[in-house]
Amino acid sequence: MTNVIVLFAEADRAAQGLAGAAETLGGETRAVRITDYQIEPALNALVDACRGADVVLFANDTYSQELAPRLAHRLGGACAGDGIDIQRVDGKIRVTRQVYGGKAQAVIELRRSPAVVWLRARSFPASDVGQASACPLATKGQAEACPTLIVERNTSTQTTTRLEDANVIVSGGRGIGGPEGFRDELQPLADLLGAQMAASRAACDAGWVPPTWQVGQTGKKVAPALYLAIAITGASQHMAGISEAKNIVAINIDPDAPIFKHARFGIVDDYRKVVPQLREKLARRDS
Ligand code: FAD
Repeated sequence: MTNVIVLFAEADRAAQGLAGAAETLGGETRAVRITDYQIEPALNALVDACRGADVVLFANDTYSQELAPRLAHRLGGACAGDGIDIQRVDGKIRVTRQVYGGKAQAVIELRRSPAVVWLRARSFPASDVGQASACPLATKGQAEACPTLIVERNTSTQTTTRLEDANVIVSGGRGIGGPEGFRDELQPLADLLGAQMAASRAACDAGWVPPTWQVGQTGKKVAPALYLAIAITGASQHMAGISEAKNIVAINIDPDAPIFKHARFGIVDDYRKVVPQLREKLARRDS
C-alpha cells in the first residue's frame, strides 16, 4: 500500500495535514513537491511519480483542484474532492464529504486505483511531512510542449496565515454597513485576537473587502477553533463554509437570525456597541 502526498512550494501547514491523513490510511507514504507550477509539465511529472500508488492526496487549493481529476483520468483511477475524512475499508478507499451545505454527509467509495483525493484544510491533525521537501519534481523545461501556458503570474504576498489554516477568524457581513466598519471596528478586534479577517459574500460583492475573504459555498471552507460571525445572517450558503468551525460566536441585532441556531454563544445587539466593549476587555487582558 503506497500513498503519495502532493505538495506545492508554499503550503506547509496543508502538507502536515496531508501527512496526517496518509498516516491514518497506513502503508508507506511518499511525498512529492511541485516547485514550478505549469499544469501540463506538473501533470506529466505526477503521472510518473504516482504510478503504482493506491492513494494520491492533494490539499485544498486551486492547483490541486485543477490537477487531481486530470491525474486520476491519466492513471485510470478515481477522483473525489473536498473530502473531510478518508479511510481504507476492506482495501477500498472511502471519502466522506459534506452535502446540502453541510447538513448531511456522503460517503463515497472509490473503486478504481489510484484514489486521487483532495482534502479540506484542517480536516486532519498535522503530522510530520518527512522528506517531502527533498523530493521536488522536475517540471521545469517542458513548458514549450504545453497546449496551455501560464503567461503571467500576479503574486500577492501572504504575510499572514491562510484563511483555511486560521485558528481564529473574525468575519463580517452586510450588516457591518461599509468598509469603514471592517477597517475601524473588526480589524482592531482581529488584531487583538490574533485572528484572520473574513466576510460573507454580500460584503465581498459590495466591494467593501477583497473577494479572497469570502467564506461559504462559493468561497473558502474554513475550520477555525473560533469563528466570530458579526452582522452575518447565517444563510445556508455561508454556513457551508464554516460547518467545520469548532465554535461559532454570533453578534446580530436580529434575535431570529439563523446564525444563532448554529452558534455556541450569541449576542443580540448592535455590533457597534458590542465590538468596542470586546476590544476594551481584550486590551485590558493584554496590558
Ligand atoms: P444579510 O443577509 O443582508 O444579513 C445581514 C445581517 O446583519 C442581518 O442578519 C442583520 O440582522 C444583521 N445586522 C444588520 N445591522 C447590524 C448591526 N448593526 N449589528 C449587528 N447585526 C446587524 N454567501 C456567503 O456568505 N458565502 C458564499 O459562498 C455564498 N455563496 C452563494 C452561492 C449561491 C449559489 C447563492 C445563491 C448565494 C450565495 N451566498 C453566499 C449568498 C447568501 O445566500 C446570502 O445572501 C449572504 O450570505 C448574505 O450575507 P450577509 O449575511 O452578510 O447579509
